[in-house]
Amino acid sequence: MSTTISVSGAGFTSYEVEVGRGLLTGLGAQVSTLTKGRVVVISDETVAALHGPAVLASLEGAGLRTRILTVPPGEASKSFTELERVIDRLLAYELDRKDLIVALGGGVVGDLAGLAAALYMRGIDFVQVPTTLLAQVDSSVGGKTAIDTPRGKNLVGAFHQPRRVIADIDVLATLPPRQLRSGWAEVLKHGLICDAAFFDWLAGEGAVGVNGDLVALERAVIRSVEIKSAIVEEDERETGRRALLNLGHTFGHALEVELGFDELVLTHGEAVALGCAMAFRYSATLGLCPDADVKRAVSGLAAAGLPTRLAEVGEAGAGALVRRMTGDKKVEDGHLTLILVRGIGQAFVERTVDAVRLAGFLRTEGAR
Ligand code: NAD
Repeated sequence: MSTTISVSGAGFTSYEVEVGRGLLTGLGAQVSTLTKGRVVVISDETVAALHGPAVLASLEGAGLRTRILTVPPGEASKSFTELERVIDRLLAYELDRKDLIVALGGGVVGDLAGLAAALYMRGIDFVQVPTTLLAQVDSSVGGKTAIDTPRGKNLVGAFHQPRRVIADIDVLATLPPRQLRSGWAEVLKHGLICDAAFFDWLAGEGAVGVNGDLVALERAVIRSVEIKSAIVEEDERETGRRALLNLGHTFGHALEVELGFDELVLTHGEAVALGCAMAFRYSATLGLCPDADVKRAVSGLAAAGLPTRLAEVGEAGAGALVRRMTGDKKVEDGHLTLILVRGIGQAFVERTVDAVRLAGFLRTEGAR
């Protein structure tokens, strides 16, 4: 049993996201409907060791000529160096535009392989097989691909939608607990943005998902993909509503930079969780959001083992954080843009945030 969610939009060919259990077995049959040519699986070394054999067996079982190409695990692989190496291998394999790439891994592999697919021969098809919770609920859907440069994250990239996304919930069984919690932050974020009933379920009966309950995880992934794809359908290029998906991200990104992008100190999901808590408290300070909603939002995040207070993760200066926030990509016409809330499930884009007032708020949050 699986659930299929279709993603369509004005600017791209529609595609399907399939979410379910045991899907890797049927991957070859699915991919063979998209290409009769060759398939290159791009993965990281950890995921390739755990799930590569099942993927290759399925693809080869469907009669597809297949190769696997691995990169080291971790954010450092989203680099020009790895992109060049990957593209060089594709050229050496003499892949052509009838062939296809499968991105097997978390957001790092999806972003890197997706960008390689966007650039190779001006664009070849690729299929996302996301293996982290974050990748299943967020990065594999929507067509954003990118690498980092020493000047910042995700600064070089392209919009390139996958031909299909196959999210096998069973692969989450091998994911380390901290990675699962990180992805759970993005799941909670989806509820906080636009679905209060989903958030209540995640914070209540569904909370077992963060401890690895695969039934709850399947439901959480399905609803998250529905929410994300509905937003992407309306606004692929983030000229409006897609910015809502950045709830918690402007605060979170500033914290990630200030704390040195050290995954051991703060994962991306943890930064997003703390950023969501801050966005709720800031909205309450501005008189926009009832305190009861702030309390429910923060306790849902904290109960999942995610940080909700600056003191839990380290120290940062208020001025430095605001500078990072104004230096963020989401600054338009000199105004600081933040995603704020009128309550749980009621996020909105605020484009005229006052930097001085924001710095004052961050001091009340414990920033120096
Ligand atoms: P990741 O890809 O680095 O994966 C995290 C770790 O988990 C890695 O060490 C990986 O080897 C391991 N792993 C992956 N799947 C596993 C499994 N099933 N079992 C055991 N280990 C497994 O990190 P991530 O959190 O998935 O992705 C983060 C990246 O996603 C960032 O670079 C971020 O910028 C990007 N991102 C992109 C988008 C987008 O829209 N394109 C959205 C959000 C995040």
